[in-house]
Formats: sequence, C-alpha cells, structure tokens
Amino acid sequence: MIDHYKIARQRMIDSQLTPRGIKDKRVLDAMRKVPRHLFVDEALYSQAYSDFPLPIGEEQTISQPFMVAVMTEALELKGDERALELGTGSGYQTAILAELCHKVYSIERISPLANRARKVLDKLGYGNVVVKIGDGTLGWKEEAPFDAIIVTAGAPDIPEPIVNQLKVGGRLLIPVGGEFMQSLIRVRKTETGIEKDDMGGCRFVKLIGENGWKIERE
Ligand code: SAH
Repeated sequence: MIDHYKIARQRMIDSQLTPRGIKDKRVLDAMRKVPRHLFVDEALYSQAYSDFPLPIGEEQTISQPFMVAVMTEALELKGDERALELGTGSGYQTAILAELCHKVYSIERISPLANRARKVLDKLGYGNVVVKIGDGTLGWKEEAPFDAIIVTAGAPDIPEPIVNQLKVGGRLLIPVGGEFMQSLIRVRKTETGIEKDDMGGCRFVKLIGENGWKIERE
C-alpha cells in the first residue's frame, strides 16, 4: 500500500526545509520519520505537512514545520541530552526532541492538550518523554539542570528560572517580544555568563504564567 503521509513528509523536507537551509541530518531524519498528521485533528490530516501552523484547539497552534526544524537544529542535539520543553501543545515538537535526545521533560499548562499529547506520544512508543501539567515559566527544578531548553510560546522576557536551570554549555531557544511578534533568541550559557543571538522574527501564541504574560481577566 502506498503511504501517502510518508510521501508528504519527504515533500515537506524537499520543498520547505532543505531549500531554506536546514542541514542537520538527524533533524531531517526525525522529521521524515515522525507522523505529524497524528498530532492534529483527523479533519486536518491532509494539511498536516503544509507550510503553515494549524489550530490544535484551546486557541493554540502546532508550529509550522520549518519553525520546528529551525528551533530543533539550533539546539545542536547529539543524542545524550536531557531536554526541557515549555508548551507541549500537540506533542509534535516533543516527539522530534524524543527522537534526538536521551530524555525529554515537557510542560503544558492546558490539561486537555497535555493529555492528548501524552496519548499520541504513548501510542507512538516514546518512552523517554515525561509530560507535566503546570506553569513552565517556573521551569522544572527537580529535574534541572538541562542541556537544552526549548520554549514554543512567546514570552515578554526570558524567564529567569529557566536560565538558571540550563547547564553551562547548554542552549535555550525562546521567542521573546510583544504579543504578536517576537524574535527567536538563542541563549548559550558559558562559564562566565550568557551569550544571546537573535535568529530572526517569529510569531507564537503567548507564554502565560508567573514569569510570562499574565492571564487575561474575563
Ligand atoms: N510545540 C507545540 C506548540 C504549541 S503552542 C506544538 O507544535 O504543538 C504553545 C503551547 O504553549 C500551548 O499549548 C500553550 O498552552 C502552552 N503554554 C503557554 N504558556 C505556558 C506555560 N507557562 N507553561 C506551559 N505551557 C504553556
């Protein structure tokens, strides 16, 4: 039987990722492997490999494949890392991380999303992922420090606890800026402090929490 989704994944790599400069073979292999369509509603399966974000319910979105590739590549994963993810959402980025590092700790504040992501990740056999419901802007102190941290929601500033929970030599990727536009910032922790580089503009939903945006009142 022809696997149309497998063909769609290869097409996604050839038209959206490689031509725009994604080079890390491990990232490309992971994105060729993970069945992204299973992380969205069945009604959206046919759009799962398209070049844009998609709604996942609760007013949240699954990121555009290219954004997942850029952020994952920038984490420079080799395979032995312990990674922290803030904003599990659909769980797709979580699965990509699970393919590329030793263990993934992921936090989501909206329980129905966390539960659904957990189910899909279990079904696909990702035993190296722990999903927790809570406020990711506090980090995950009991499991810190981490080699890599990825935040897939936009923050007004970099939450201090997560910088503290990054190992020396570790990388943190986070969209920082206004409510509607942010800059994708890569933070590298060194012996003497932190180095930041701006990887360009991006647009994410809000990181809501104690060290993020405050919850809007009804
Ligand atoms: N990587 C996900 C992106 C989901 S959108 C994917 O591709 O599917 C961002 C997610 O961050 C949303 O699900 C939102 O609920 C979550 N989020 C926002 N603030 C958060 C916080 N403080 N802690 C944990 N998750 C948060």
